Amino acid sequence: MSEKIWLSSPHMGGTEQRFVTTAFETNWVAPLGSNVDGFEHDLEQFLQGSHVAALSSGTAALHLALILTGVGAGDEVICQSMTFSASANPIVYQGATPVFIDSEKDTWNMDPVLLEQAIKDRMAKGKKPKAIVPVHLYGMPAKMNEILAVAAKYEIPVIEDAAEALGSRYHNKACGTLGDFGVLSFNGNKIITTSGGGALTGKDQAAIAKSRFLASQARDPAPHYEHTHIGYNYRMSNICAGIGRGQMEVLAKRVEQRRSNYQHYLKTLGDLPGVTFVAEPSGSFSNRWLSTVLIDPAQSNGITREIIRLALDKHIIESRPLWKPMHLQPVFADAPAYVNGVSEQLFEYGLCLPSGSNLTTAQLEQTTNIIRTLWK
Ligand SMILES: *Cc1c(COP(=O)(O)O)cnc(C)c1O
Repeated sequence: MSEKIWLSSPHMGGTEQRFVTTAFETNWVAPLGSNVDGFEHDLEQFLQGSHVAALSSGTAALHLALILTGVGAGDEVICQSMTFSASANPIVYQGATPVFIDSEKDTWNMDPVLLEQAIKDRMAKGKKPKAIVPVHLYGMPAKMNEILAVAAKYEIPVIEDAAEALGSRYHNKACGTLGDFGVLSFNGNKIITTSGGGALTGKDQAAIAKSRFLASQARDPAPHYEHTHIGYNYRMSNICAGIGRGQMEVLAKRVEQRRSNYQHYLKTLGDLPGVTFVAEPSGSFSNRWLSTVLIDPAQSNGITREIIRLALDKHIIESRPLWKPMHLQPVFADAPAYVNGVSEQLFEYGLCLPSGSNLTTAQLEQTTNIIRTLWK
């Protein structure tokens, strides 16, 4: 039996173990040390002008961003509906309510028109949203100029969920640097990984310094343990940060490899009736973290994304439906939502294809051959 083909698996570059070995040799096996400082520095170099705090996860980064934005019990926070649940969960950790916004068709991300309608409606109902959480889904930059213009008009801070978009650019600015805060993830399935980890980014150096303080149990300067704030244990381990430093050396290559996967799918499947791909709008550069397709059964002679998923699964090839929108999730059934049908249709028609930077040409060809055969 051939090896399983994964949706998106870790891909080491070679020098990660050297950084980890240094941590062992110097006994910095702790949530601080030279790898943590070095990884933050590497990310700051890459992001150009943002400050970075290395954390235990992207979810932790989102949570701290909400805390630093002042989101508390009873507040409302606007969140993209078409996303992974981790974009929305930390809103609930704070005792606040997510208000979900549907997607536009060009990038599959937060619809700026619907965003403004929702803000007006929430304000008319008596509550101004405390923050806006747009997402760059699968690495495709959201329409940030429009979103930021609405946010500025109503003076609402933006927490940019760039967990899937490290290496993506929007009008030549790195994703993760566009909002008041940015969130990155280095989970095992992301474009680079530290096994598990994340980062909070921002232009405000004092706010990022405060996130490091909150992430280290909020210990005030004193010889004993003194606390004036509620703290969290959210800092990144020096071992994980060592993996991150090695991964930063190959990030550009990983983006190239993922984009090349997308090109393979576009070239070999793009002519099939009912199959469409999402193109980069002008000014946008996607890291193509995951390659995704839409299958319209009305044009594909009844072939659905589920038929493709099962055909691939039979050959131990992993694929997954597009993320199920948050406003359709049972856990968020009571949350307000402003919808236009776009994300529901994406979920119905969309499939994420194997997208790892470590896929071989043979594995990509095997995958597309199985799919093409369904049309014969
Ligand atoms: C992965 C992901 C997160 C969470 O990051 P973790 O590091 O896994 O906690 C948040 N938002 C989106 C869109 C993600 O894909």
